[in-house]
Amino acid sequence: MKGFCLSLLVALACAFVVGHAYAGPVAYLDAFGEIYVTDNPKAVDAVSALSCLSSPPPSGPLAGILTSAVPRGTKLLDFRIDGDRAVVNFSKRLVAGGVEETRLSGVFEQVKWTLWNWGIDMNVSILVEGVPFSQWAVPTPVIEPRGDVGITSLSGRSITLSPGHGKFWNGSGWYTQRPVYCSPLNEEDYHNLEICQYIETYLLNDAMTVKMVRCTNKNYGNNPYTGDPWWKMAACYWLKNIGYPCSVYGSYSGCSLGDGGSESSDDIRSRPLASDYDNTNIYVSLHTNGYQGDCTGAGCPTGTITYYDCSSEHASWCTVSQNLANAVHGALIDTIRNKIPISDWTDRGKADSNGAYGEIRIPDRAAILIELAFHDTCDRDAVYLRDNFFRSACAWGIYKGICSYFGTTPTWDFYSDELVSHTIPSTMTTGETRQVSITFRNKGVLWTEAKQIRLGAVGDSDPFTTQTRQYISGEVGPNGTYTFTFNLTAPSTPGTYTTDWRMLRENVTWFGATCSVNVNVQAPTTEIIIDNSDAGFSASSNWSTGTMATDKYGTNYRYRSTAATSDVATWRPNIPSAGTWAVYAWWSAGTNRSPSSAYIVYYSGGSQSVTVNQQTNGGKWNLLTTKTFGTGTAYPTQKSCWATTGYVVIADAVKWVKQ
Ligand SMILES: [Zn+2]
Repeated sequence: MKGFCLSLLVALACAFVVGHAYAGPVAYLDAFGEIYVTDNPKAVDAVSALSCLSSPPPSGPLAGILTSAVPRGTKLLDFRIDGDRAVVNFSKRLVAGGVEETRLSGVFEQVKWTLWNWGIDMNVSILVEGVPFSQWAVPTPVIEPRGDVGITSLSGRSITLSPGHGKFWNGSGWYTQRPVYCSPLNEEDYHNLEICQYIETYLLNDAMTVKMVRCTNKNYGNNPYTGDPWWKMAACYWLKNIGYPCSVYGSYSGCSLGDGGSESSDDIRSRPLASDYDNTNIYVSLHTNGYQGDCTGAGCPTGTITYYDCSSEHASWCTVSQNLANAVHGALIDTIRNKIPISDWTDRGKADSNGAYGEIRIPDRAAILIELAFHDTCDRDAVYLRDNFFRSACAWGIYKGICSYFGTTPTWDFYSDELVSHTIPSTMTTGETRQVSITFRNKGVLWTEAKQIRLGAVGDSDPFTTQTRQYISGEVGPNGTYTFTFNLTAPSTPGTYTTDWRMLRENVTWFGATCSVNVNVQAPTTEIIIDNSDAGFSASSNWSTGTMATDKYGTNYRYRSTAATSDVATWRPNIPSAGTWAVYAWWSAGTNRSPSSAYIVYYSGGSQSVTVNQQTNGGKWNLLTTKTFGTGTAYPTQKSCWATTGYVVIADAVKWVKQ
């Protein structure tokens, strides 16, 4: 096997050698099919490294663990730089036994990362005896659109959104397609879905038609294949479950899923074929990148790359796919660098995958595949991928890029909300404390105290509290609501005061709706109530006491036991302050014997006689009069009774209320 590493074309490649005069790096695949870069003693320059792709380490600790998508015996026929791309031409051995989707992507990534390690960072085209590699793939079926998508709006636009991977049948069991890296990081299979949930929310808020190829609802239930929740499953199983035809979900291994050989190609192809079936406007796939397993330190790769496909199979969609990549990648990088912000985030650019990724080679529409960050760069990208703020922010950036592609702008900005409700009263008493609440619905990036996203008193001051910030506990994602509950204390001076509250990110910006309430702060109401048992009540001896337990002032009422032509009872409150007072009388409902009766209210300079109907006005406070009284004077309220016979209930109580 030694000979395979000794290319006849070493001389041609000398210009690209980066100074390695000893064993150099070659990209192989680990057990999950992820890139793993290690040194091979036969790799001394870019060309010899490419030749080594067909020879995984024969000895040492990685022997038997690393594999290659380039079969043993494959020869490197030619390597050249053609404009902006590196062209690698292999012998026909590369396509022996058929070309699965995972072989296309695996060879592409091995070549790309090997060249990258030798200082060649550009588009990569892989040929097999001069013919583009992807043309050797097993053809996909032609899908007739179902034609009932019902486009209504981002204004009338539709998208197929593909969260990469998910559990699948690998020929002998059910596995995720990527392992857990940088534990406890979620696996790529799962965080792709979780990030796409945010993207979907933003797009639906703008009324776009969104076709998700995996289950987006974590509460949907469990699947019959593995017993896991449906959202963990790869696309082909879900698409079958929701009624897509076999030509979409089983295009590689057939209509029966969960048996036979690996269904990896079924899964990859089912996504773009679903977009053909739905005839959506665009196709966007989300992935995260891998390089070498858990990696820590300055040398680990970071950043975002977005792929489009200009291979022959996708040529007629090349330009629109590049446009989509430009729009989405640009907005995404801008959002990460300037809004999150991570100013030094690495922009790995946009690249042509040249048929390597079936997800974006197959769809008959604009299609991109985003590798958002490196899930195995443990001290940087992987930390961000765990962070729901980062996830939602990236999702918002992708949403903005999709808007930009269609020539629109996002309805909801990065920081956005709407006011749902509040309980701030319109009137309060001086010095009074009330617990109030304000509820906002988040329409933008996720809210968390970790990013100092808070509710603030507008202008950093408020007449009702010195606590001008209210804090969020937990996280509030897009479309989530949050209720802030706190106390307001009215000022000590009567008047109208404004309390106004708005969301902000501390030291960054205020945003969204303002909850503003004008509160009329009044001096406290003074009430004096005298009932028939209190001091201040007096009556002639003809009045006796009785009891009725039917209302709050009815336990001690008075009735006249002896007929007389005129008897009076008097309530004499002590008036604590000068001013205008309203005077009320109370008697029990349904217990009165007089059809009507007169009260006389005395005040400075006169008196007011008020006749009220005792038959119909019982059981409530009856306003007798409103008058201005002087300070400290006791003014009587007098009940006169002229009935000549029987049994007359007079008022149970009299109330004076300061106006
Ligand atoms: Zn992936």
